[in-house]
Amino acid sequence: MIAEPSATTVLITDDSLVIRAVVRSHLEAAGYHVVEAVDGRAAIEHCCQTPPDVILLDIEMPGLDGYEVLEVLKADPLLTDLPVVFLTTLTDMDNVLRGLRGGAHDYLKKPFEPAELVARVAAAAHVKKLQDQLRLRNAELDLLSRTDALTGLNNRRHLELVLGHYHADSIRHQDPLSVLLLDIDHFKRVNDGYGHPAGDMVLAEFARRLKSELREGDVVGRWGGEEFLVVFPRTGRDGALVVAERIRQAIAATPIDADGVPISVTVSAGCALGPLGTAAELVGRADALLYSAKGAGRNRIESEPAAAS
Ligand code: GH3
Ligand code: MG
Ligand code: MG
Ligand code: MG
Repeated sequence: MIAEPSATTVLITDDSLVIRAVVRSHLEAAGYHVVEAVDGRAAIEHCCQTPPDVILLDIEMPGLDGYEVLEVLKADPLLTDLPVVFLTTLTDMDNVLRGLRGGAHDYLKKPFEPAELVARVAAAAHVKKLQDQLRLRNAELDLLSRTDALTGLNNRRHLELVLGHYHADSIRHQDPLSVLLLDIDHFKRVNDGYGHPAGDMVLAEFARRLKSELREGDVVGRWGGEEFLVVFPRTGRDGALVVAERIRQAIAATPIDADGVPISVTVSAGCALGPLGTAAELVGRADALLYSAKGAGRNRIESEPAAAS
């Protein structure tokens, strides 16, 4: 379907007042919202502030000409997809090709037929709308591909990617990096005692509390079933332990409400300090510490011994 004109803004860039007025009247009659720029600079400024859906661009203007404006727009990642329709008297093949090769969507010869003007603007607006939909859909898919459906946290795949980046960074800059691997205690009993759906609710609320205890910059995700991993960039043992202890307490302090049924859970965790040889080794170390925490009675954090001072 062609884009709804009323929701579509067209920026006319032409140094001629008469041309701007004529184009405006035809486009407004067709239902478009029209804005104007008197030269190339003004057009670029306008696009940066409030990008239109389509730009009608004169070529011969004082200051920047249409080709130069096109070049600036195409070089800007935020504006590169704006469809540009040249509106020009220069319609010899060299000029047409130069415009199209530069990334123009279309061109319209002056003087123009009003019906053709409206049709070409509609086609450009349609392309813009499809691109916008595609971009939105890609963003949704991107988010889905890195999100755990039950908890809304990062999934393991994304977490591994992020951890890999931070691990490499911490080696490069010789910064500390801590990871915390958490595992809900006796979670099997929750499922066995209250049912799997209640178990799911516990996982979701656990994730919410976990996230709310973190600082901006900490990265958290669901590592597996009832295991979660937090990455603390540029954070040493003590900094990570403060947060870990806060999380442990936030879980133990208040039972989780599963549809009116209060369910008490606790969590154990292993806190490892990196970087180590690889990111996987760092997580392996946290896993070993977690295992110790389970062995030592659960509802506790095990960490590396404090560095001797
Ligand atoms: P521990 O204290 O040693 O960690 O004991 P645990 O019972 O938590 O450990 P175990 O690994 O034996 O059991 C984990 C349970 O988590 C088993 C599995 O069915 C459950 N689980 C894993 N993923 C989900 C999920 O998405 N939803 C629910 N409801 N349960 C899950
Ligand atoms: Mg001109
Ligand atoms: Mg487990
Ligand atoms: Mg467990």
